[in-house]
Amino acid sequence: SDKSSLAPDLYITTDKLIIRGDIGKGHFGAVKVGECKIMGSFVPCAVKNLTGSDIETNKNDLLKEAKLMQQFDHPYIVRLLAICDAMESSGSLMLVMELAPLGSLKDFLSQHNEKSFPEERLLVLMNQVCDGMAYLSGKNIVHRDLAARNILLVTENFAKISDFGMSRIFLESDNYYKASQPGTWPLRWYAPEALLYYKFTSKGEIWSFGVTLWEVFSYGSRPYSGLKGREILAMLEGGKRLECPCGCSPGVYTIMLQCWAYDPEDRPTFNDLLLQFKVFIVFVVR
Ligand code: ADP
Repeated sequence: SDKSSLAPDLYITTDKLIIRGDIGKGHFGAVKVGECKIMGSFVPCAVKNLTGSDIETNKNDLLKEAKLMQQFDHPYIVRLLAICDAMESSGSLMLVMELAPLGSLKDFLSQHNEKSFPEERLLVLMNQVCDGMAYLSGKNIVHRDLAARNILLVTENFAKISDFGMSRIFLESDNYYKASQPGTWPLRWYAPEALLYYKFTSKGEIWSFGVTLWEVFSYGSRPYSGLKGREILAMLEGGKRLECPCGCSPGVYTIMLQCWAYDPEDRPTFNDLLLQFKVFIVFVVR
């Protein structure tokens, strides 16, 4: 069964979990803040709860998400702390994650500007996201929902990638994940080959990273605002791209344009970008 491939020591009983208020609204239900007892002491956590209708279908999705997350061990990826299966008693299944107290990068940045949170600080955070994405691509995983809303902040200088609800692992030999049909997809973040052929590769993830960079340097603006999915694809096929965000340095915009090369082979890898960020951070921050 699904449960068997999850590490048994991840399962905790409800008495090890204290749940407090809501911190976010998720796809399946509310995300709550709380504390979870791990190795004898309570640590702050975020709890993704599964309740209400459609429990059986969503349960499998949530378990799949947990199974992926349990394989990760990286500073810039949200850690799974535990699973609490209270289906028998309270009818809920809970995914317990480490807490990122400052919430999503998108919400955080929409309350800031170039003065209050300058470019060099954005670069530090996006370098961390790039590092986390390099780790995922090395594990043949496509996140498929990389966007500023899914980057969470532990502190103002410490970002983590979250929300593995759409993530998939692909075979080394295939080099890509093929979706059978489009669902409720974050189209604005997707590369042309994902939109056209439902093909997801690490080179497509780089495209999404570029869109996320654009969001971040636009302090939380919506990409292609006012355009519909079909219009976006037409624009991209016509060779047009999102414009340079106001105040964003040409060097950073050049990275975005590299990420948005139409041919996936012409895009950089996350490791290529890490080197570029290193240079930026040395010369811009110091
Ligand atoms: P879904 O996949 O159902 O959309 P998310 O994983 O994106 O759910 O979580 C929804 C919201 O809950 C996020 O936007 C964020 O505000 C909050 N949240 C999720 N995980 C955490 C966490 N580990 N720490 C802090 N807040 C979180």
